[in-house]
Amino acid sequence: MAARLNDPLPRLKAAFGDLGWVLPETLAAAPGPEDIYYDVVAQVEMAHWQSQRTVLVGDAAYAVSLMAGQGASLALAGGRALGQVLDGAVDIEAALARFEQGLRPLALENQRAGRRMAKWFVPATPFHAAIRDTSVNIMTWPPLSGLLNRFFSFSSKGFSLSSH
Ligand SMILES: Cc1cc2nc3c(=O)[nH]c(=O)nc-3n(C[C@H](O)[C@H](O)[C@H](O)COP(=O)(O)OP(=O)(O)OC[C@H]3O[C@@H](n4cnc5c(N)ncnc54)[C@H](O)[C@@H]3O)c2cc1C
Repeated sequence: MAARLNDPLPRLKAAFGDLGWVLPETLAAAPGPEDIYYDVVAQVEMAHWQSQRTVLVGDAAYAVSLMAGQGASLALAGGRALGQVLDGAVDIEAALARFEQGLRPLALENQRAGRRMAKWFVPATPFHAAIRDTSVNIMTWPPLSGLLNRFFSFSSKGFSLSSH
């Protein structure tokens, strides 16, 4: 849930106003507090997603954050997986446990990826920022990006939920 601040703009200006580039202009043009989306970036780590016949899916169970860029996909995958385990299930609790066992490794892997990405989204030093920018520039260089696309075009390790 978005943080409720009376007016986040002064805090945004204090934190980011001197970063240069388009930020001073952007902050000067920012709308009133009711139209500013201001939130923390967080992950959700639950010891269990399921209790008896109650189950959590998507961000409520395993939010990976925008750092991982897979939250929507994992939420949809969770919905699909839940449908699969419940289809024809007699023992609902066992089916929900199977749902969690099947999906949890993928969610945890994405959470780890998100945490690794954090330091590149928000580099701690100018040195890290320079490495990040150089890497992005190299990857988006047309001859190389075409080659990378061939190797990394949409692939997913996925997961499977075998029925019992
Ligand atoms: C800034 C940002 C950028 C992101 N970028 C990406 C991206 O590039 N790629 C990606 O895959 N994911 C991204 N995500 C993550 C993605 O948006 C979420 O992982 C995904 O929306 C989770 O889906 P969900 O259905 O679990 O939860 P939500 O989409 O949060 O849906 C939960 C719904 O429940 C409603 N609700 C809450 N409480 C109640 C209540 N008491 N009664 C009734 N309704 C209620 C909420 O209003 C909401 O509509 C991003 C997230 C953010 C915040």
